[in-house]
Amino acid sequence: MPFTAFRIHDDEPRNRIETIETGDLRAGDTLVKVTYSGLNYKDALAVTNTGKIIRDFPMVPGIDYAGTVIESEHFAPGTEVLLTGWGVGERHDGGLAGVASAKAKWLLPLPAGLSARHAMALGTAGLTAMLAVMAIEDGGVTPASGPIAVTGAGGGVGGIAIKVLAGLGYDVHAVSGRPEQAERLKALGASTVVDRSELARDAKPLEAGIWAGAVDAVGGQMLSTILATCQPGAVVTAMGNAGGIGLKTTVFPFILRGVRLQGIDSVFAPLDKRAAAWARLATAVPEASLEGSIEEIGLEGVEDACQRLVAGQVAGRILVRLA
Ligand code: NDP
Repeated sequence: MPFTAFRIHDDEPRNRIETIETGDLRAGDTLVKVTYSGLNYKDALAVTNTGKIIRDFPMVPGIDYAGTVIESEHFAPGTEVLLTGWGVGERHDGGLAGVASAKAKWLLPLPAGLSARHAMALGTAGLTAMLAVMAIEDGGVTPASGPIAVTGAGGGVGGIAIKVLAGLGYDVHAVSGRPEQAERLKALGASTVVDRSELARDAKPLEAGIWAGAVDAVGGQMLSTILATCQPGAVVTAMGNAGGIGLKTTVFPFILRGVRLQGIDSVFAPLDKRAAAWARLATAVPEASLEGSIEEIGLEGVEDACQRLVAGQVAGRILVRLA
């Protein structure tokens, strides 16, 4: 059964849209007809050859996808499923193709209330944002505790984190380098939009405490400043490096204010945690609330969209329609 795929090769042209067969894919135990795949920062690094994401070629990128089971010993044909992470689109062929071959243990049946498009409008970004919110809740931070900073607010993780946190009653301060995004971020639920330059600076080891928590998609200097400007007992979740991999801090936020720095890894998050997060996302972030943040493209638009993603020019989520 031939189908169209976007594949990355190790010779020129690196990126090709080509017709392949299931036998050309790295084998899993379940064939899925892909309906939508979401583009993430990691996909953009792979497609633009900016980061060493892919080492084995040719590879279908696409770290998340949703679709319908065609053939499996573990799922009935026709079951709607979603997949994020597990190294798919990095070490195993991903979602930017008409058909994907997955391992059944990576797939989650779509929870009630979630269509394939809705799931991919949320995608890895949505799962990561919800895991961060769950970590903030686990750390005892409530809406009464104080404001929550969301950095990289204009991006996929940031936007969904704002929507979920605001829906739970938290006071969300969106930190963005793009003033033109302010209205969209407020429409998602941010009470305040802080200019990125206010936090992308050298901070003293401790400054006045502002945040009760944070969802940091940026890392680097931004995360250093967030840690120095946290209230006692704050929970800071870190999942991204759009602003750099370095982290300059001191022990003071931790030993003088009891600040908790919680890393978020959505790629290998256990299935039970994922299922809980997706069930919450289905109701916390309705599809209609994301419409203003969704750009839908076909495979031919992937390369351009990835260039815009690495340049920080994309607002919200890019969906690639496969069927
Ligand atoms: P996006 O590209 O959609 O968003 C990233 C945002 O970060 C941009 O929109 C921009 O927001 C901000 N940003 C970009 N470049 C810089 C910079 N140089 N300095 C400061 N801010 C910058 O990515 P995602 O939202 O999909 O992902 C965000 C991060 O989280 C990425 O690093 C990604 O790799 C990581 N991630 C990690 C996961 C995990 O499991 N740990 C899972 C998913 C993502 P603005 O213009 O508003 O300032």
